[in-house]
Amino acid sequence: MKDIPVDVGLIYEGERIRKSSMYVDLAGPKSKGAELLLVVPPEEVEDGRVEVVGPDVDQMEEGGRYPFGILIKVAGEKLEEDLEGVFERKLHYFCNYIQGFMHLNSRDIIWCRISKDAAKKGLKLEHVGKVLVNLYKSEFDVIEKIQVTFYTDEKAVDEHIARAREVYEKRDARASAIKDEDVDVFYSCLLCQSFAPTHVCAITPSRSGGCGAVTWFEGRAAVKVDPSGPIGEIPKGEVIDPVKGEYSGINEYVREKSNGTIERVYLHSLFDYPHTSCGCFEAIAFYIPEVDGIGIVHRDFHGVTPFGIPFSTMAGQVGGGVQSQGFLGISIAYLRSPKFLQGDGGWRRVVWMPAQLKERVRSAIPEEMYEKIATENEAQDLESLRSFLEQKQHPVLEGLKREEEKEAPEEEPAATMPELTVPVQATAAGAPVEFTITFKNARIYAEKVIIRRKE
Ligand code: SF4
Repeated sequence: MKDIPVDVGLIYEGERIRKSSMYVDLAGPKSKGAELLLVVPPEEVEDGRVEVVGPDVDQMEEGGRYPFGILIKVAGEKLEEDLEGVFERKLHYFCNYIQGFMHLNSRDIIWCRISKDAAKKGLKLEHVGKVLVNLYKSEFDVIEKIQVTFYTDEKAVDEHIARAREVYEKRDARASAIKDEDVDVFYSCLLCQSFAPTHVCAITPSRSGGCGAVTWFEGRAAVKVDPSGPIGEIPKGEVIDPVKGEYSGINEYVREKSNGTIERVYLHSLFDYPHTSCGCFEAIAFYIPEVDGIGIVHRDFHGVTPFGIPFSTMAGQVGGGVQSQGFLGISIAYLRSPKFLQGDGGWRRVVWMPAQLKERVRSAIPEEMYEKIATENEAQDLESLRSFLEQKQHPVLEGLKREEEKEAPEEEPAATMPELTVPVQATAAGAPVEFTITFKNARIYAEKVIIRRKE
């Protein structure tokens, strides 16, 4: 591409920049950031303009870590607000076409990195912006005007994150106003098949894509403007299980698009046929067999789950487009869905989540459950989790006790005695010996007890 100091192309999509070859980190788990794309009136966009608020790459220190925000404004006669999430998700792919620039995740959990080689060749954010302008306009005819702003100044990034979160909330709230049964068609997203070939995101009103960027409304808008793009329609078909969320249309579609690898999908359960997980999910729901409950951990949480492992380790086991029993990559918006894991008991089954996430989705948690869900402050391992749940009389314990009773049925003793002394005769070194054994608080079990009156 003209005037860009590095190559740009699909071949760089899978490029990983390791720490040893990193020039700077932008946003990411140890900093902060957000990306946002807005559809605005044409008079609010200066077409082709790229602005950097704060230091650009050439003013950054090698090895440094900087807060980072991306704001893209687009305008066009045929554009509608519902397209924002879909176009915003494209940022991930377009950024990764740039040699020496890595983009991970979405929304307010983005993590970007610039390589030493790219910085040496003179790559700046200004160039990244020009590439984005070019790629967006060439891929989407409907975008008539586009303007890109990068934020690296801390105060400006904070303001940008706050604004972005407001928009995400608004988008998610809109999607939760309708339910799966209110519509005849669902949507699919195949964008992540580039690194998870069997992953097919089924997007319904009650379940947004794992990355959180694509809701049912955004799927519908995307199909209108780009019918042959990565987002397509899924005919709903027959309802096979309304609680777990199994539909014949989704099963058929997923079977075909996963090349026969995935046969069945439950939208709202972690078990048997859970939805596949790609790798860019915002959170993971995971089954904790020791308490028969469900934990949730999100990408921003850097501590360990009660299993003793952090999000990153768990994500490595869950992603890649496979169905992992008891594990499910989800969006934060799904936690607000009225059908949230309803096949497994929904919020009554949730036992642990990071305090920050619990606060963030507070309004979605039923009031009677809020205090019963442990966070890292009350439970750091399985033992402390179990005692917290017992203390709070969490509903999972009822099921757990029933299970334990089933496994080890306790027989009723025939008699209990505070003290029972039994005379014993035995032989030691060939000679007979007599002694007594005393049982304290003895419980006597017997197949049959015969009581006879003394004559
Ligand atoms: S996580 Fe799902 S919705 Fe999001 S980009 Fe990937 S395939 Fe699409």
